[in-house]
Amino acid sequence: MELYIHIPFCARKCRYCDFASYAGCESQMADYVDAVLNEASLRAKQLGNISFETVFIGGGTPSLLPASLLDKLLKGIREHFTIASHAEFTCEANPGTLTEEWLRVAIVHGMNRLSMGMQAYQPELLNTLGRIHTYEQVEQSVTMAKAQGISNISLDLMFGLPGQTLPQWQETLHAALALHPQHLSCYGLIPEEGTPLKQDLDTGKLSLPDEDAERAMYDETLHLLASQGYQQYEISNFALPGYACQHNLGYWQQVPYLGLGAAASSMLTGSITAAYTRETNPASLQDYMAMVSQNAWEMREVLPITRQEARFETMMLGLRTTQGVSETAFAAHHGCSLEECYGAQLRSLAQRGLMEHQGDSWRLTRRGMDVQNAILVELMDD
Ligand code: SF4
Repeated sequence: MELYIHIPFCARKCRYCDFASYAGCESQMADYVDAVLNEASLRAKQLGNISFETVFIGGGTPSLLPASLLDKLLKGIREHFTIASHAEFTCEANPGTLTEEWLRVAIVHGMNRLSMGMQAYQPELLNTLGRIHTYEQVEQSVTMAKAQGISNISLDLMFGLPGQTLPQWQETLHAALALHPQHLSCYGLIPEEGTPLKQDLDTGKLSLPDEDAERAMYDETLHLLASQGYQQYEISNFALPGYACQHNLGYWQQVPYLGLGAAASSMLTGSITAAYTRETNPASLQDYMAMVSQNAWEMREVLPITRQEARFETMMLGLRTTQGVSETAFAAHHGCSLEECYGAQLRSLAQRGLMEHQGDSWRLTRRGMDVQNAILVELMDD
């Protein structure tokens, strides 16, 4: 089982961000940590003594949490749950907020992987995104983490940004590679409704690169990272051999997970009527903390996932990965074969060059990856 803990605090809201993260709420951090520990205590009673294979502290900006509160949180979590000795233990951090003290506390409690948002190299693009840091601060944070003994570092980058050119994206990739990360996540920008960035795009103040330019940036990513020894293991994720993110792989392979904190989701094994259930905590700080303090667990959204939906999720999540969907794993998970459920659709997609069958797995071709959404629509008719 996997553990996710959400830390919904940020120094400032980035202009593209629609995650559950809040700026200017530092005064609520201590109460929030208490709430997460109360939730952990309740879950521990409910689920028994679980040993987690992966831990991911995400946000928000976990590195904004004062070191003393991080210490309290991680100490408390270990009082309620076991974390496997070999567990991958990731903390997200943002350059400009990371300190040596914070790193030391995280490491003492088992953190062995650091994931940082770099996003772009050029100050003007960082400014468009509303990021609070410079590339130099990314560099300093990476150096600091390495000096503390962290040898598994991931950087997040974004392409398809307003005004971004292919040479600028190449420059960003080279600047990231110069820091020798073990892992890179390269996401295409998706402008989300209600964000200031989307507003600027809608009013014509900013404009996005066209589809061909964005595809050229993605192609450049595949080409350059492969030439530097990074293996693509998911549409947006690349790692040196042995450094693929186990937490994310588990998510794509539908390993059950427990999520603690505001907006966190849990996927727990199900009942006779549902393959599993997905439970999601309220996103707002106030609602989340009220739910915990008043024992009002009915405030969680509980969604039973039927067996048919679970099968479709296996396809949707598995086809994001370069490994694809394993026939053996599918049959073991769902009690029916991939052929029975999706045989006709898979063969039709293969004939059109959008999917391929290799060994035990079905996976998307490069052309298939470009039209992934349309493929998923075809697979919905299970
Ligand atoms: S740092 Fe991350 S979570 Fe926080 S506002 Fe920016 S994108 Fe959102």
